[in-house]
Amino acid sequence: MCGIVAYIGPKEAYPILVKGLKRLEYRGYDSAGIALIQNNEIRLVKQKGKVSDLELLASETSVVGSIGIGHTRWATHGEPNQVNAHPHLNSDESIAVIHNGIIENYAALKEELQKRGYIFKSDTDTEVLVHLIDEILKIEKCSLKDAVRLALNEVSGAYAIAVISLKEPNTMIGARKGSPLILGIGENEFFIASDATPVVEYTKKVIYLKDEEMVELNRDGSFEILTIHNEAISPKIQELELKLEMIEKGGYEHFMLKEIFEQPKSIFDSIRGRIDSNEGTIKLGGLEEYKTRILNAKRIIIVSCGTSWHAGLLAEYLFEDLARVNVEVEYASEFRYRNPVIDSDDIVIAISQSGETADTLAAIEMAKQKGCLILGVCNVVGSSIPRASHAGCYTHAGPEIGVASTKAFTAQVSVLTLMALWIAERKGTMTPSEIKQILIELENIPSKIEKTLENSVDQIKDIAKKFYESRNFLYLGRGYNFPAALEGALKLKEISYIHAEGYPAAEMKHGPIALIDEEMPVVVLANNDSIHEKIINNIQEVVARKGQVIAITTANDVEINKLAKHIIEVPETVECLSPILASVPLQLLSYYIALMRGCNVDQPRNLAKSVTVE
Ligand code: GLU
Repeated sequence: MCGIVAYIGPKEAYPILVKGLKRLEYRGYDSAGIALIQNNEIRLVKQKGKVSDLELLASETSVVGSIGIGHTRWATHGEPNQVNAHPHLNSDESIAVIHNGIIENYAALKEELQKRGYIFKSDTDTEVLVHLIDEILKIEKCSLKDAVRLALNEVSGAYAIAVISLKEPNTMIGARKGSPLILGIGENEFFIASDATPVVEYTKKVIYLKDEEMVELNRDGSFEILTIHNEAISPKIQELELKLEMIEKGGYEHFMLKEIFEQPKSIFDSIRGRIDSNEGTIKLGGLEEYKTRILNAKRIIIVSCGTSWHAGLLAEYLFEDLARVNVEVEYASEFRYRNPVIDSDDIVIAISQSGETADTLAAIEMAKQKGCLILGVCNVVGSSIPRASHAGCYTHAGPEIGVASTKAFTAQVSVLTLMALWIAERKGTMTPSEIKQILIELENIPSKIEKTLENSVDQIKDIAKKFYESRNFLYLGRGYNFPAALEGALKLKEISYIHAEGYPAAEMKHGPIALIDEEMPVVVLANNDSIHEKIINNIQEVVARKGQVIAITTANDVEINKLAKHIIEVPETVECLSPILASVPLQLLSYYIALMRGCNVDQPRNLAKSVTVE
């Protein structure tokens, strides 16, 4: 994970780097650091903790210079302390490196370098890179570009790096493999960053580097892109669509709250242009080219992680129910290592907000080798998973910065619903009027979310006040709302650090019912139609054991009103879309509980947003 940002040009680098690091902080916040070339020296400031801690430290010293690199870390190797913070320097402090990823053969390289007299200061895998570059520079007497290139030929694993050196103070090198890296091209200035957010303020012209590509940036405004095998690459400059206001809080206290409230728009944007509800048809341009293959597939395998896995589980219900196709949902990290049976005519759908999730990326590479068709469902345009996929559908939810996913999840579910209906329409597994009904309802979801947001905030705050000190929570749902229960529990765990479990409501009696007493808040998603009676039975079972029921129901549900102490009402919709509406109050509940517990909502401990390490 971790975020990297670098600048070379006529301006002062420090303010650009600090601002960039703050934008990238969602990627990791164990430590932060900056290195600049200042009066023929490498000026290094690094600190454990957040970018604001780094700023405090930097305010005590001078950090000036117009070429520099910055890093915000999510530790993989070595504890999150100051020594392990990036940038890392070589022994004579003439080279500085920042790195996102994992150098997998670092132990062997470290041993070799130590034998040759190199002294390591940190426990990171990254430090081998800087000593390796140093050694190659000394032996080969080559340029910094060639030294970095040769070093990268010796490492295995994943990296996005930026390197500066006193020997070439007007040059900066960037390179990537497996971790993202963007090059921003301004007027006689260049930026390197993990994503476009640190760049968007200064230029709209960007190049997305591909795996094993590197770049040499020069102060005279020239640059060269090549592969680590020394092949020249002609650059493809793209125009950024990102706007500055999209990545700012816009008056909200937290990004998470802003993103919860953005859901009417993010869902609208994700389905816009893809539905003709008069005709009852779905248009997904990305899938058309592979229509025959998709319609003939005997099986869809969904690979994803975290919240995206919950969207995938919901997709299993959607695809099987609506399109009558067999679906397996896999944790990407398990799938890639467990020797699964994969047929070349299987379709693999990879779901990832960032499009950079390392395990998901590796899983699709494996399935690709077996001949599968890969479809990506991602939010970040141009990210690695869409590029590695044959086709797919973007979610157009806009940048999601809060580490706990909210609007990306509901956008994923909306798009996956469209994909299921797209197949259903073409395979004839549903009648045109059945399809039309769901499409009309999907188009109504944004206004129904608006209504939920308008009506339920105060009530949810009251419930949060009552339960924010609880040590455990149980979330129960059935059918389409079982994955939503899992997602509700994950949200609470992630940002409030309360232990929470999601469970299929009927499974409760096979174990978790033993946990229920008067102390246990039990959130029950009771907004399904077809199994309403069954969920009422489950609520009865909780109430009989004095559990505190918080029920998500549709309006005026008399029976549930009688049983549950706390009710949060959501508008009615068709069953397959009900988990989208149920998710919104669950997001708000976890948000307000976390707030009352004094937790850092946008940057929960130990987590990072874009999981680019396995
Ligand atoms: N492996 C490096 C470290 O632990 C970089 C980690 C990252 O990409 O977040 O410092």
